[in-house]
Amino acid sequence: MLSEFDLIRRFFTRSTTHTTLGVGDDAALMALTPGMMLAVSSDMLVAGRHFLPDADPRLLGRKALAVNLSDMAAMGATPRWATLSLALPQADEAWIGAFAAGFFEMAELFSVDLVGGDTTGGPLNLSVTIMGEVPAGMALRRSGARAGDEIWVSGTLGDAALALAGLQGRLKLSEEDAARSLSALHDPTPRVALGEALLGYAHSAIDISDGLLADLGHILECSGVAAEVEFAALPASATLRRQLPGETARGCLLAGGDDYELCFTAPAARHGEIVAIGQRLGVPLTRIGSICPGSGLRLYDESGKEMPIGKTGFDHFA
Ligand code: ADP
Ligand code: MG
Repeated sequence: MLSEFDLIRRFFTRSTTHTTLGVGDDAALMALTPGMMLAVSSDMLVAGRHFLPDADPRLLGRKALAVNLSDMAAMGATPRWATLSLALPQADEAWIGAFAAGFFEMAELFSVDLVGGDTTGGPLNLSVTIMGEVPAGMALRRSGARAGDEIWVSGTLGDAALALAGLQGRLKLSEEDAARSLSALHDPTPRVALGEALLGYAHSAIDISDGLLADLGHILECSGVAAEVEFAALPASATLRRQLPGETARGCLLAGGDDYELCFTAPAARHGEIVAIGQRLGVPLTRIGSICPGSGLRLYDESGKEMPIGKTGFDHFA
């Protein structure tokens, strides 16, 4: 039987590249680059709520870090360090080894040092705190949207929610479409390079974890502005488009969770520069509407008619 100490040493202690003191002491020590601010965010994944207890542990390791990296991306911050707090029902070495392998795969992709954490017995729960750096005064906040901004989103929306709808039998997907959407659900790609590139261009940003309408809604509320969004402009994958105009697919596109794409606003005068950033990074960027004075979000169909907005996202306590 592995002791807690052995487990940490064996699975969660790796050499670091930009950390003064990492795993093994009472606290980690890191030096910030001069002129940079520390950006900190935590995200927890709970078995039975965010994932099924029999989920692939390697993919869970990747996703536990990816969803946190997505928060750094949304601030325009460069991720640098993470801590990992685990509650584990048992010391299952194969499970923990696969989880750690996935976690460190993602950490290496984004040059993140794991600098500490906590390990305890208990119902399966994965909690990551990510720390990053962003030039002082430059971070992309939810509160910066201005009337006249264009609203953009990266990638495609609703694929993860579509996978979940397929798993729950709310719609029928071909084998190929199920596989494609499941990879969006289980292995999201955080848009870190995009967030960094948007510094100095975007006025506001958020990552889409609870659905476009809910998350764009946060920008509107924090910024004290309104939005007009064109339904036909929303970027949908071929997989999702095959399910339209079905009500479930429409819900996935507008209010599906777990996308981890960025939604941001930028002045219309920056349109060409935003397009160029997307091309340089190879990240599809789509303009979906505009910010205007007032409050609330209005959604329009192709003929310019206003569409009713139903459920706007996932709220754990609603
Ligand atoms: P303490 O009793 O001082 O809280 P712990 O015994 O909990 O220390 O942890 C020992 C060291 O291992 C600390 O540096 C802690 O940050 C690190 N650690 C514990 N669990 C993890 C984990 N899951 N991943 C990375 N580091 C961890
Ligand atoms: Mg501890």
